[in-house]
Parts: sequence; structure tokens; C-alpha cells
Amino acid sequence: MNLILGRYLHCADVTLPTTVIATVEKEGEATIEFRGKRKDGTLFDVLMAIKKIIDHDDNVFYLASCLDISQIKENERQLRQSATVFENTTEGVMITDANATIIDINDAFSDITGLQRSEVIGKNPSILQSGRHHNDFYELMWKSIEDKGSWQGEIWNRRKNGEIFPEWLNISSVKNELGNIEGFISVFSDITSLKETAEKLDFLAYHDHLTELPNRTLLKARLEHTISTAKRNKTLTAVMYMDIDNFKNINDSYGHSLGDKILVAVAKRINNIMREDDTLARLGGDEFIIAMNHFKSPEHVVHFVQIIMNLFEESFIVEEKEFWITLSMGISIAPDDGITPEILIKNADTAMYEAKGDGKSTFKFYNKKMSAISFERVVVENALKSGINNHEFEVYYQPQEDLSNNEIIGFEALVRWHHPTLGVVSPNRFIPIAEDTKMILAIGEFVLKQACKDIKKWHDEGLCDGRIAVNVSGVQLEHSEFAEILKYCLTHYEVDPSMIEIEVTESMVMKNPERWISILEEIKRIGVAISIDDFGTGYSSLSCLRRLPADTLKIDRSFIQDIPNENDACSIVNAIINMADSLGLDTLAEGIETMEQREYLVEKGCKYAQGFLFSRPMNGRDTYSWLKERQ
Ligand code: C2E
Ligand code: CA
Ligand code: CA
Repeated sequence: MNLILGRYLHCADVTLPTTVIATVEKEGEATIEFRGKRKDGTLFDVLMAIKKIIDHDDNVFYLASCLDISQIKENERQLRQSATVFENTTEGVMITDANATIIDINDAFSDITGLQRSEVIGKNPSILQSGRHHNDFYELMWKSIEDKGSWQGEIWNRRKNGEIFPEWLNISSVKNELGNIEGFISVFSDITSLKETAEKLDFLAYHDHLTELPNRTLLKARLEHTISTAKRNKTLTAVMYMDIDNFKNINDSYGHSLGDKILVAVAKRINNIMREDDTLARLGGDEFIIAMNHFKSPEHVVHFVQIIMNLFEESFIVEEKEFWITLSMGISIAPDDGITPEILIKNADTAMYEAKGDGKSTFKFYNKKMSAISFERVVVENALKSGINNHEFEVYYQPQEDLSNNEIIGFEALVRWHHPTLGVVSPNRFIPIAEDTKMILAIGEFVLKQACKDIKKWHDEGLCDGRIAVNVSGVQLEHSEFAEILKYCLTHYEVDPSMIEIEVTESMVMKNPERWISILEEIKRIGVAISIDDFGTGYSSLSCLRRLPADTLKIDRSFIQDIPNENDACSIVNAIINMADSLGLDTLAEGIETMEQREYLVEKGCKYAQGFLFSRPMNGRDTYSWLKERQ
């Protein structure tokens, strides 16, 4: 007890309230708290106890004892304050004991995590773990708390609803006077929106504000990446520089806000046909760039350029006004026209200016050779259209033999195109274009019908009991009606399914095995055999092959032409024959030109063969005579 009565006497200006006096009179004692003043003028909290004492002579004394309670009062105030902070802060607070068992949390903790007090008290904080951090992360965190008494940093935690969120977390250990850890206090804030803002800022740094397309910076970064993967895959990367013709006129006549809307509409229309790993970027103004990879040949680039140009054959409706918009486009292709983004963009820009000079609404390649290819492509594409209408196609047949007994097992149907001025156009030249433009659907149907008609006739006349193998491209198979067309032909021409086989290429099937396996199974159910063409070039996996409903593997001509002298070709051919054997499939070697090749294949156990050595492809009439002669 710290009696300060003496000092208290210096502040005699305290008048006791009447209620206190009344209590003292009645009860004999009372206590009172008030702010007192010291001799030096400073204030302090006083607890005063007043006692009424009556001595033997009935004299009345009042004994007042005072206690300085300033420190107690201050502690109380602080406690009250921290409790308020604890409850009212927007930061989540979690208090654990030394064993990391949660002993208290605040309301903000519940707001952020969705977990109520009753759900967490007594639990370990690991209930919040997101699973995003490795154990090492937590180990480092605890080490820092041990060494330094605290840790702070960003951490991903999990809310009650399973959502994972980022928080800024501060953990401190609480020690007693002896320096032993009594518990831990974690204070954290949800930084989801902060992160989102950061992401948005990041997005804005790499995108054009108006169209939200990648900007020049992002385009260059992507191009860099694209060029390096293209180098590995030996594919072409095209940079297409596009500029809207007379865009300035639109801006001048209708104002910038309408001009902006047109830019957005143009961006959207082009973006719709982009594949996922291609990039459409806006450089600013009315200039756009497309960067595309995975082109196998210059023809494919030309085809794509035409698709883009065709997009603008339809008008744009903006603010209820109709606009006919055209583009000028310049194209550079890596690696021939450059292998850095800067050079490719510069060269595409140069070509674009040439296109503008050529009267706009057109495209130009930086490389003149490409312009020739694109010209040929346009010519072939147009000629194909009339070729279909004018019946310029004919089916040739190349016989296939059984190597064990020289018997004919059937023919492969090979289409020929006799163009009035171009002459005989090789399938290798026009099939890819026919596929790109879907004209292969009409051509393929014609070949299938002709094959059915011819094999039916040869069967009926007893000239041939084999079958005709018809090449079917992916575009045809993708077309949902292929199986229907096949069934129709079989019924209409009264052809038994065993008289037809279809050939699909290995590379096509392996591009998306799951999908093609189910399509091929449907064809197989019709009773038509399936052979895998150009085998050995398409990187089949054994597990896919096992599930493929195929009957025959056609060993690609490129290997046959190198046997028996080249070791690599020999080992591939041997491997294919052995693998086919173990899978229960037949093998057919295509492109046999010499007796040596034939003998090698017979020795290795290849079953069937086809090639110039046996016979060149012949038209229907010649095949008929050839069959007759062999009889
Ligand atoms: P493919 O299916 O690999 O056809 C075999 C090609 O090799 C044919 O060329 C054939 O004439 C040729 N050939 C056959 N034996 C020999 C030989 O001993 N030596 C040499 N050097 N070549 C030989 P073709 O007829 O020019 O056909 C080329 C490609 O065009 C075909 O390759 C096929 O992928 C495609 N094709 C042909 N007709 C059709 C068709 O009706 N539909 C589809 N979708 N594609 C077809
Ligand atoms: Ca073939
Ligand atoms: Ca082939």
C-alpha cells in the first residue's frame, strides 16, 4: 500500500460529493475515485478510502487513505483499447497457444475465411492451408519465427467454401518474462483485390486499351517464342501486317468515337477465326498484325490470307450505318524473310505499303516467290471449281498384289485431273487446296461412286474378286455424313462392303486418335476395311495402334525407295512388319520399283505390294483390258 495522504493534502481543492459524505456518515466508510493534483501540478488517478472513527471520548475523526492508481487505470485503458482494435480491425487476427492450437480469432477472421469461432477454436491453423505451398515454404516460415520472433509475407490460404485466396500475413511469437514462447499472433489481410488490380495493370501494360488485343510489346514477346518453336518443328511463321483502307475518311466524316467502334468490330471479326496459339495484335491506329505459326507450306499461308480477306466481304454495321471496309495486307514469313520479330514486322510493313500502292484491298508478300505461289494457288483454286462442274476428273487404278502368290488383291483408286489448259494436274498439287476449300467433298464423292461402279462391273464379269482402296482425307471423314454417303454408295451400286477399303493417313489419325478411332469404328461396322496410309511417317504410339480398327499398314514409299541399301530404311521397314505382325495387321509396301526391293520385302515377310514394278496406275478402260488379259 502506497499511502500518499501527505501528498494528497496539497490538493485540498477536492470537495467530497455529498453522496460520499452521506455514505460515510451512514456506513462508517466509503471509497471514491477521482483525478487528483500533485504539488507539482501533475494529475494522477486517486483511490481514496474514507473511514469515520469515533474515539472513547466520542470525538469524530475522518481517516482518509489514498492510493495512486494511475498505472492500473492506464492498463485498463490499454486493454479496453486493444480489445476494441481486436474486434474492429478489418485485418483477420488469430491467436494460438505455444502448441499452435487456436485460442481466439476476431470477427474479421470469420469475415475473410468464412470460418466461425466455434469451428476453429481448439484446431490447428493448418485447416487454412491451400495446398499451394510446398512443405519447404512452411518450414522456412517457422524457422524465421523461431529466429527472429516473426515472419511476414504473402501466402495462399483456403476459405471455408474452398476458394483459395492470397493474404498478406504477419505472424509474431508472444514471449513471457522468462523468454519462453507462450503463443503466436497472426494478423492478415485479404489481398485478392490488390492482386486483381496488379493483374489488371499488368494486362494494360501488354494490351491495347480500346480493343483489349495484345499490343506491340506482347506481340514481340509471343513472336519470339513462336519463331523458336517453329524452328524446332520446321514450320513456318507468318506475320501479316494489316491496315484498313481509307480509315482516315471514316474518322473525319463520322468522328473518332464511331471510328473506335469500327476498330473494335474489325478486331472482333478477325479474332473469331484465330486459333488459340496465334496472336492478333493492334499496333495503334488502324494497324493490326496477325502472327501465326504451324504453317506447313506457303500454300497454307496463302489460304489463310484469303480467309482473312474474305472476312471483309460482309459489311460492318455500326450505329445503324453500314460500312464496307477493305484491308491492305503485307506478309512476311519466317525463316525466309527474317528470324527476329523486328525484321519480320518491318518486312511485312514494307509489303503492306506495296499492297496499298497496288490499289488497296489486296495483299502482298515480302518475298516475290511467295507471290508466285499465291498466284498459282488462286489459279488452281478457281480452276478446281470449274473442274468439278465440267467433269474434268477421272479415276485411275493401280493394282496391288499378294507377294506370296502374285495374285491380284485389288486396286488403289487414284484421282486424276485433266485441265483443258493446265494439262494433267498432280493430286499432290490440287488435293491440299481441295481440302482447304472443302472441294474435296465433291471430288471424294465422285471417286467413291466411280470406284463402286467399276468394281461392281469387274466382279459381275468375273474379272476380279478383290477390292478397291479409296483414299479418304480428314476433311471428308470429319464431315458427319461420310458414313452415310458410303452406305448409300454400297446400296445404290449393289456393292458388298468387302469390295471397298478406305485409306486414311497415319499422320491424320495420330493428330487426334481418340476422335478418329471412334469415326473409324463406325466405318468398320459397315464392313469396310481400313488401311493406314503413309505408315512410318506419323509417329504412331503403340497404344493407339492397338486400339485402331485397322486391317492393313501401308509402308510409306519413302522407306521402300531406300531399301535394301540404306540401313535406316531397312530397320524401319523391318520394325513395321514385325509390329504389324504382333498386332495382327497386314502390311502393304507401296512404291516398289525394282526387283531388289520386292525380293527384300518378300524375305522380310511383307504381305502385299503395289508399285510401278507391278503396274502403273491405269484409267478405268485400261484396267478393264489389263484384267481381261490376265485372265
Ligand atoms: P498416296 O495415297 O500415297 O498414293 C500413292 C502415290 O504414289 C500415287 O501418286 C501413285 O501414283 C504413286 N506411286 C505408286 N506407285 C509408285 C511407284 O512405284 N513409284 C513412284 N514414284 N510413285 C508411285 P498420285 O496418284 O500422284 O497421288 C498422290 C497422292 O494424292 C496420294 O498419295 C494421295 O494422298 C492423294 N490422292 C490421290 N487420289 C486421291 C483421292 O481420290 N482422294 C484423296 N483424298 N487423295 C488422293
Ligand atoms: Ca493412298
Ligand atoms: Ca501412300
